[in-house]
Amino acid sequence: MSFLRLLARNRLALAGLIVMVCVVVLALITPLLPLADPNVTNTADRFQRPFTEGAALGTDHLGRDLLSRLLHGTRLSLAVGFAAAVIAATLGAAIGIVAGFYGGRTDNIIMRGVDMLMAFPYILLALAIVAALGPGLLNALIAVAAVNIPFFARNIRGVTVGIVHKEFVDAARLSGMSDLRIIVTEVLPNVIPVIVIAMSTTVGWMILETAGLSFLGLGSQPPVADLGSMLGEARSALITNPHTSVVPGTMILIIVMAINLLGDGVRDALDPRLKSGALNRPMPTTLVDRKGPVPQPKEGGALLSIDGLKTEFHVKDRVYKAVGGVTLSVRPGECLGLIGESGSGKSVTALSVMGLVASPPGVITGGAVHFEGQDLVGAPYAHLRKMRGDRVAYIFQDPLATLHPLYTVGDQLIEAVQSHHATPKSEARAHAIDLLKSVRIPNAEKRIDSYPHEMSGGMRQRVGIAMALANDPDVIIADEPTTALDVTVQAQILSLLDDLRRERGLAIVFITHDFGVVAQLCDRVAVMYAGRIVEEGPTDAILNAPSHPYTSRLMACVPELGGGRRELAAIPGLPPVVDRLPEGCAFADRCHKAQEACRRGEIELVDNGPSRTVRCIAPEPVTEAAQ
Ligand code: ADP
Ligand code: MG
Repeated sequence: MSFLRLLARNRLALAGLIVMVCVVVLALITPLLPLADPNVTNTADRFQRPFTEGAALGTDHLGRDLLSRLLHGTRLSLAVGFAAAVIAATLGAAIGIVAGFYGGRTDNIIMRGVDMLMAFPYILLALAIVAALGPGLLNALIAVAAVNIPFFARNIRGVTVGIVHKEFVDAARLSGMSDLRIIVTEVLPNVIPVIVIAMSTTVGWMILETAGLSFLGLGSQPPVADLGSMLGEARSALITNPHTSVVPGTMILIIVMAINLLGDGVRDALDPRLKSGALNRPMPTTLVDRKGPVPQPKEGGALLSIDGLKTEFHVKDRVYKAVGGVTLSVRPGECLGLIGESGSGKSVTALSVMGLVASPPGVITGGAVHFEGQDLVGAPYAHLRKMRGDRVAYIFQDPLATLHPLYTVGDQLIEAVQSHHATPKSEARAHAIDLLKSVRIPNAEKRIDSYPHEMSGGMRQRVGIAMALANDPDVIIADEPTTALDVTVQAQILSLLDDLRRERGLAIVFITHDFGVVAQLCDRVAVMYAGRIVEEGPTDAILNAPSHPYTSRLMACVPELGGGRRELAAIPGLPPVVDRLPEGCAFADRCHKAQEACRRGEIELVDNGPSRTVRCIAPEPVTEAAQ
């Protein structure tokens, strides 16, 4: 099971697990072991040292065998600690879920009660409960469980509140499920990992609390021993016969250490975000591990040129070849469209340019990215940092995810300016207003103090563009900037970008999956499939006469306004998985023209008419008229 494998990867957690298994097994088989009776006193043999005949760990002040008492005591302490944890987790979670699910007044009443319990120091509260119920191990268990209920209730309520506002819970309500059913089938499965995590990190704590109560004489009653009461009884002989306290003390230390290490490991292994390698903090730039020669910059006036770029994701023993040798370039004032189905590697290509692919798991394994003739792949972080946002800027698809929700857009624009150029605040603010005006935000002087949530989607995307323009970059890489917008706003934003490149000589790499957008904005277009460019050339030429079967099939999926009724031809099948790319052409399995030769060897990108290239052995012929 992957959970155990993940747990085993964490050495300390594994050590904790092994120790805990040993202790628990030992505790379980204690009654079967040939041990002396733990409660039989023998005052003739008081305070025997450890390793004496018949008493491996010595004896206590009443001559009782310490080894036997230790094992029986451990058994009891573990049982009470676990039982308390299970009770506290169950009741606490139930209270938390009810409070979080119903909210409003129910939530208020329950949580204020919980707060009241939390207002007492927990050990004082436990003492008060035991004082009220009377000393005894069972009452100590109840006390320890009771003081921990608020902790679970608070935790679980917080998680539940987050879940009940999710769409899937609304969907369950709309489908007519009862509250109980929603709680059991929708909320609980999402909460259980949190409960397990909270439990695994508090069991050790509860064992300690029980030991504390027993130490004070409120838990297990003589002659029965648990670890706490053994310590309590040994207290008077601490100086003269230290072994009587060292023995139970060491056991408590071992158990609590092992449980906490294991608990940390369980938490890490259960968190789904950590499974895919997010446990390691991403590095500031993408890891570079280039094999083979590094391409040299080419002549030809390109501002940014990507040359044979290969970016992979190394996840455990799998290698996802997201970008498998992409070559592209843009000149100043030019707009290059990069088009392809979702998952074809467009975003990864774009992010690789500035080393923004998260590492781990991302690795750039080949190629180069030249900006003004300088290789950016493997450039020092300080250099990349200077370039990011200043010379090469990005516009992302979801402006709500890229803008900080708690700062006004003005502050964020000012920050974008000031992080690259030491500008006085007032000047930066004036510049920010100019920027907002240049992206046609009406009433920019007022809008600058708006928060992102106060703006519409189109407006926010304009702020994203303004931010990209803040430092007058040379290249803008726009990753599906209009996909989330409606067509009218899209048209405005496209014409805005078009104006900007004409006015400022910006080079734009425009990523999209929409041929209409490409036709409107781009001078050249590159079609991407399974991490490689399959066709590239001037937009008009390609749109009029696509050569690669994939391009023509992709275009056939686009409905034409006013083009009459025609059947939209979806491409059958799915794009290949990038960790198991087939040999030869990656599109062969979906191509109506596929032949034997398509599935062999490497299909090269070849010239195909004036400034056009195609990666196909049988491209559609390019007629004179189409050129
Ligand atoms: P798109 O063309 O839609 O922008 P992407 O560039 O985002 O596609 O993704 C290209 C490929 O890289 C996809 O097949 C995706 O599964 C893979 N990929 C992206 N990020 C990761 C990651 N962190 N781990 C593994 N594979 C990834
Ligand atoms: Mg993408």
